[in-house]
Parts: sequence; C-alpha cells; structure tokens
Amino acid sequence: MSLSDNGRRLSAHTGIGELMRDLGDALAVVGSGAPVMMGGGNPAHVPAAEALWRTRMRELMDTPGAFEAMLGDYDGPQGRRRFLETFAAFLRRACGYDIGPENVAITGSSQTGSFLLLNLLAGERRRILLPIVPEYIGYADQVLSDDAFVACRPQIDTPAPHRFKYRIDFDNLAIGDDVAALVLSRPTNPSTNVVGDAELARLATLAQEAGRPLIVDNAYGLPFPGIVFTTARPAPWNENVILTFSLSKLGLPGTRTGIVVAAAPLIEKLAAANAVLALANGSVGQALTEPLFANDAVLRLSTEHVRPFYEERCRLAVSWLDELLGDAVPYRLHEPEGAFFLWLWLPGLPITDRELYARLKARGLIVVPGSYFFYGLHEDFAHRRECLRLSYAQPAEKVRRGIEILADEIRKVFRG
Ligand code: PLP
Repeated sequence: MSLSDNGRRLSAHTGIGELMRDLGDALAVVGSGAPVMMGGGNPAHVPAAEALWRTRMRELMDTPGAFEAMLGDYDGPQGRRRFLETFAAFLRRACGYDIGPENVAITGSSQTGSFLLLNLLAGERRRILLPIVPEYIGYADQVLSDDAFVACRPQIDTPAPHRFKYRIDFDNLAIGDDVAALVLSRPTNPSTNVVGDAELARLATLAQEAGRPLIVDNAYGLPFPGIVFTTARPAPWNENVILTFSLSKLGLPGTRTGIVVAAAPLIEKLAAANAVLALANGSVGQALTEPLFANDAVLRLSTEHVRPFYEERCRLAVSWLDELLGDAVPYRLHEPEGAFFLWLWLPGLPITDRELYARLKARGLIVVPGSYFFYGLHEDFAHRRECLRLSYAQPAEKVRRGIEILADEIRKVFRG
C-alpha cells in the first residue's frame, strides 16, 4: 500500500502503540494465564471514585432531559458552555488563575489535545523543546513532521542510596530559534519527577522571555487528580502558559475527556481545529463531572481518596522493590514524587532495556522499556538504555507478583 508522508508517520510502529497494545491484550485475558500488567497508564479502580461516578450517572438518568441531552446532542467544538464556565470558576477558586470560559477548551482526551496543540504550534522545522527527558512517550509521534523534538538531558542527583532525582539542567538549556514551544508533564510520566515550584517558575520565565509558550501537562497533577506526593503547588498560569488536564487519572479514561487552559486566541484556534478533527467532543465526561467541579467534590475526591490510594500503593511497591532487589544489584529508583509509576534505573545493565522488556514479557510481566522516553535527545546517553517504567496501579497482589518476577530476572541478568 502506498501511503502519504503523514500516513506513514501516523501508522508507524511507535512506542505508544506498543504500550497500548500490550495494555489492551493484558486486560483482555482473564484467569491464570493473564500477564502481570505493570506497563500501561491505566488508572486503578479507586472505590470512592467509582461510587461517585455511579451516583452521578444515576442522577443524570433520573433528571428528565439530562441523560437524553448527554447522549443525543452535539456540543460546540470548544465544549459545553456550562462546563467551560464551571471549570474556569473551579480553577479560579482552586488555583487563583485569572481565567474565564474563553480560556478553556475541551478535547476528546488529553492525548488528542496535545496532538492538536503540538501541530498548531510545531512542524516544518519548528520544534518542540523538552526541557528535561525522559518525557511522556505519548507526544513522541504526534507532530506531523520529521525531527520535531529537541530535548535536554537531565541533571541527576543521588540524594540517598538506591535513589536518584532528575532536575532541569538550566546551564545547558537553550531555547533555539527553531523552538516553537516547550512541553513538560508534571508529575512527569515516566519518572514521577515533580518539577519544583521554583524550577517551574524559572522555566516559565525563560519561556516567556524567549516568547515561546510553555505547555504544562497536569494529567496526574494539580489540582486534580492530585497524585503528587510532594508539597508542590499548581503550575503558575499566564497568557504564555498552556495547561492541559485530563479526567482519565481521576478514574474516567473511558470518557476520553481532556481540558486545555490557554490564552483566548489560542483556545479559538484549538476549537476550530477540533471541529475539523471531531466536530465536537464526547459529552459524557463533562455531564458526569460538571456538578463535581461546581461544588469542589473533585478536589475532595483527589485529596481524600485518589492521592492517598496511590500513595499507599507506592509505599508498598517501593518497599517490595527494596526488599527483593536488596544490595544484590546496583539499582536506583527515582524519588517517587507522584503519578503511579516507579522509574527504575539499573546502572551498568549488561543488556538493553528493550532486551530486558522482552525477557520479562516472556515470563508474563509487562513493563515499559525506558529508552522510548528519551526522544529528541540526539547525543549518546547510556542512562537511556538502563531504565524501566513500572506501573503499580494494578491490585497489590499482582504488583507484588510482578516485582518478584522483575527482581528475579534482574538478578539473573546481572549474574550473566
Ligand atoms: N499526559 C500524560 C502525561 C499521560 O500520562 C497521559 C496518559 O497516560 C495523557 C496525557 C493522556 O491522557 P488521556 O488521553 O487519557 O486524557
């Protein structure tokens, strides 16, 4: 079959494609043959969240006209008017942002939102700068032009035995003429690094001085779903900053709802692009959560249930990893600062991360090889072949089993 350049780009074998296939395959198998899934970014089924969705769905069904409007009507391409107003008011209260509904747009998932944003801003030799890698695998193949990313290596601190932490290496961060925008996920998927308030403020100032927008992806972050284990505050907002949010990690990935906050002229362009791509977005996520943003129930859910749930899972996963790897191999774990991953660095790993991924998959454990997350980095960097991302969102007993397989295989690899 003969494909266009864009057809070739969109249908190529990609890291995100492999990850989502692994996820779908693993979730489709039930019973004892099912692999242990520590790969994809599926959120956990948090009981308090699920109870809330069920209650809201009942309310919608019991409210004459509401259920029918949710399923039977197209919204405008920017989103439901009432949701946009409610969401802007929510962020004014929760984060102090000076925004109105003209600063908010809905997209058919945060993934679709970043596809539109990145292609509105970059392409044709206008590049996206990742101020620190590793960075979210899901952006890597989104820009419809080649060689679209440029990235900076992280500074690596080693605050404690078996631990490390990334920081932005400001001394080597240059915003070149070819840079169209900067992108950072916070917490960062995969490393869980939460770029600190001062670091983020410095980055935002640099971006503003250079006249390039800074996109901060809050899929796991603040103020919701709030899966942040540090004292970090929500990102600052001004007309040079673009914030992206998602309902997925609150527990609603099936609604495919993303939300973008930006200067009004960009929101208009985004809504126009969204009309081309999708006419309008799904209404279910907006209808389900609108009253929960209006009365701040989303904030309570985040701080009282979602974050504590993952924090406890994280504590268990870290303690199992430390117990089972012990001092037998030279591992380091990124300080777990949020999201629901462990980012494991195996300095001196005798095989590549992709070989280790394949060996683990053969033993029924799915993880994500780390090298996928270092796109845009054109220099050699051995660290990129020495890391794995492990999700601990699955039930605790599966996570324990997964870490047992992982520790056993890693010991074998280092023994040779
Ligand atoms: N941003 C980050 C950092 C993510 O990890 C994900 C999903 O895993 C997304 C965005 C996309 O989320 P969704 O498309 O489900 O809204």
